[in-house]
Amino acid sequence: MTSFSLRQLKLRPGEEYRDELEVELPAFAFGGQRYVPVPEKVPAEFVVNRATTGTVFSLAFQVRLHGPCYRCLGDAVLDVPIRVREYQASAPEDEEMTTPYVAADLLDVSAWARDAVVLALPDKILCRPDCAGLCPVCGKNLNDEPHEHEEEHVDPRWAALEALKDQL
Ligand SMILES: [Zn+2]
Ligand SMILES: [Zn+2]
Repeated sequence: MTSFSLRQLKLRPGEEYRDELEVELPAFAFGGQRYVPVPEKVPAEFVVNRATTGTVFSLAFQVRLHGPCYRCLGDAVLDVPIRVREYQASAPEDEEMTTPYVAADLLDVSAWARDAVVLALPDKILCRPDCAGLCPVCGKNLNDEPHEHEEEHVDPRWAALEALKDQL
């Protein structure tokens, strides 16, 4: 997994450090399904800004996830653009002013990137916005074979006649 050592940074207030990082991402479990980043290492723009009271970390990248469509279980591909920031106070008095991704002068870039992707995911991952899903009667993919079942449209008068016939 990708991490960044803050020990090598010797920034003074007002100074900035920029780098292109290769961020390794894990597979994501979402809605009981598995979504795999392709590729699993993405180039990210990483910026560190030193202020008088602390340090601001910025991370920007785009990840492409492959996995099943929520409705039809066909292949879905999702592009997730990420742009996030974290703040670390120089003299952190309370937890609010520190990022959970820094420990022992090491920034856990992969954990940060993973959490950012999870927060950016939509409610449902679909193969396309208007995916028709699976037929509730026969289970066929309604995108490939749009159809309806006659049974759902039986005239109630015929149903009454059928019931009468059963009694004979
Ligand atoms: Zn679908
Ligand atoms: Zn059907």
